[in-house]
Amino acid sequence: MAVAIHLAEVRTRIRQAAIHAGRDPESVRLVAVSKTKPVDMIREALEAGQTDFGENRVQEMQAKYPELPEVRWHLIGTLQTNKVKYIAPYVHLIHSVDSTRLLAEIDRQAGKVGRTLDCLLQLHISDEATKSGMDETEAAQIVEQIDLYPHIRIRGLMGMAALTDDRALIRQQFRSLRIASGVLSAVSHPRVEMQELSMGMSGDFDIAIEEGATLVRIGSAVFGGR
Ligand SMILES: *Cc1c(COP(=O)(O)O)cnc(C)c1O
Repeated sequence: MAVAIHLAEVRTRIRQAAIHAGRDPESVRLVAVSKTKPVDMIREALEAGQTDFGENRVQEMQAKYPELPEVRWHLIGTLQTNKVKYIAPYVHLIHSVDSTRLLAEIDRQAGKVGRTLDCLLQLHISDEATKSGMDETEAAQIVEQIDLYPHIRIRGLMGMAALTDDRALIRQQFRSLRIASGVLSAVSHPRVEMQELSMGMSGDFDIAIEEGATLVRIGSAVFGGR
């Protein structure tokens, strides 16, 4: 019950932020971040029409997915190369590709299961050393060399803003992701589509939508605190 209510509230806020920014509300997709939350709560969200869910740990996604086969699973947290093989058969979108080495392993595992995997390149947009992500130069190198990764489709970029009350700084960081996306979209290749911008969490998704987010990753505002 509570999940359905919070979900409806978040959807309303997403719509409002999109309209405020002069954007089509349908251009922003909600990824409900269900990490640490039980399957029952996810089912409640599913019944309320939510289809996309995000987890930041492979082990937790692995435990949940057999019980919820209808979910579109998004991997949003740091992914270790030795865990890629577990999610390759079913993951919908990997948001957190932070190195060439990881991308090469995703490509290898995708090939083994006969899939082309949709990935976002995670850029380091905050000045916090704790947040992962590659720099623009590495991202540019990957898109230029996409032929090296025949089982990968680059769908866009992901970024996390600094944990701060400074909304102008957050906006600047999200804007830098959008600008990077514009630069990288100059590369023309059937497996490079710089269409998705995954940015914005419970505390800052309104700013992210104003700056062009197409995927917002929202946990606590939907499922409650952790
Ligand atoms: C946990 C998490 C979120 C959601 O955070 P909330 O503040 O609960 O909305 C979004 N993105 C990533 C990468 C996360 O790990």
